[in-house]
Amino acid sequence: MSESNLKSMADLVSLSKRRGFIFQSSEIYGGLQSCWDYGPLGVELKNNIKERWWKSMTYRDDVVGIDASIFMHPTVWKASGHVDGFNDPMIDCKQCKERYREDKIDATKPCQKCGAKDSFTEARDFNLMFNTQMGPVEDESAKVYLRPETAQGIFVNFLNVQTTMRKKLPFGIAQIGKAFRNEISPGNFIFRTREFEQMEMQYFLKPGTQQDAMEAWKETRLQWHIDNGIRPEKLRWHPHVGSELAHYADAASDIEYEFPHGFDEMEGIHSRTDFDLRQHQEFSGKKLEYLDAADNNKKYLPFVVETSVGCDRCLLAVMADAYRLENEGDKEKERTVMKFDPKLAPIKVAVLPLMKKLEEPARKLYSEVQKHYRSEYDLAGSIGKRYRRQDEIGTPFCITVDFDTLEDNAVTIRDRDSMEQERIPLDNVINYLNDKLKF
Ligand code: ATP
Repeated sequence: MSESNLKSMADLVSLSKRRGFIFQSSEIYGGLQSCWDYGPLGVELKNNIKERWWKSMTYRDDVVGIDASIFMHPTVWKASGHVDGFNDPMIDCKQCKERYREDKIDATKPCQKCGAKDSFTEARDFNLMFNTQMGPVEDESAKVYLRPETAQGIFVNFLNVQTTMRKKLPFGIAQIGKAFRNEISPGNFIFRTREFEQMEMQYFLKPGTQQDAMEAWKETRLQWHIDNGIRPEKLRWHPHVGSELAHYADAASDIEYEFPHGFDEMEGIHSRTDFDLRQHQEFSGKKLEYLDAADNNKKYLPFVVETSVGCDRCLLAVMADAYRLENEGDKEKERTVMKFDPKLAPIKVAVLPLMKKLEEPARKLYSEVQKHYRSEYDLAGSIGKRYRRQDEIGTPFCITVDFDTLEDNAVTIRDRDSMEQERIPLDNVINYLNDKLKF
């Protein structure tokens, strides 16, 4: 058997649309650039990723969760540096007016769109924050921003959480939520969009202990991606050095995944010092210091190590990594299969009666399986077509109810990856699945 990986993003975009993972936003109106809608299978996959992240990050003694609002006091973004400094360098092609992020292209080469040579303008700063007005009065005082990161909702709540939850350093605050950036050049499907979801955690600690915490979190986070089923050889570290390192950070490293367009950032682990808490303390005039009972009641601003991963980028990596094309060109044997780790697969089990006449026992089995696992019931079309659909949506197990079932009270269970089939007594189906889908 021959097997190949995902070669181009177009194949994934097409599968996502064909099978109900991801649709272009407002498609019937011609779409809205860089905006995407998750379909029924996409939302299941996304929820599975978020649930895994939430459990792995907060089902531990030293991390708690919050859910802060998207709109925040405008001064938050002044303090954080986003109003003055959240800029990307933008250049335009003078011929076709296409805009580019200067740091993402080679401006000595011709324009990628129209091919014009030496046609770029000088770079100028472009602020990535979206803003809007809050309330009925349209003036500068009503201006609010759509948060460009979830982290600031955590920093401004640091003392609220620490005191109410009686937390001692080190401890973390985790959050999942939408963020918005008016990206100059969005693209590569859901890799870079203007509305996206982040899963972030800020770990507050005693100054001087950040290096050890950074190393520990790096290991934990890399392992989380591997446990999502991503092949380790498709992951690598990209440490920030020199001018890459943000002015407020004393160390930073990205986890990169090898997307079809090359290795690119999926998650950032940053040692952010006390920059954010210090800025908020100064701009709000409120003390944000921690009282360290374990160290002579000293008061100080904690340092922070953060882990920040885009949910959509992570989902893109999970899909890209799961994609396989088997026996390409062989009319009989070619198939596309999404080899999702079963714990992330949107649908775990499909129940497929061979004929309409077998609906009764099939429906009975389906309602039993559905109590335990997210399942699908499918009666339409040939069994071959139905298998092909389940392979393409990555369903680990298909259960076929056939005429023999009426005689032997058993069904055939097909494994997605090996395509091997086993005859299992109806009474044993749930045990069989429980055994195979243990996670
Ligand atoms: P980039 O260099 O790709 O613009 P960044 O370094 O600015 O990203 P961070 O601010 O560290 O990104 O954001 C943390 C994570 O949020 C990123 O690793 C990524 O997974 C996700 N993310 C950031 N911007 C976007 C976007 N426009 N679309 C989708 N995900 C994003």
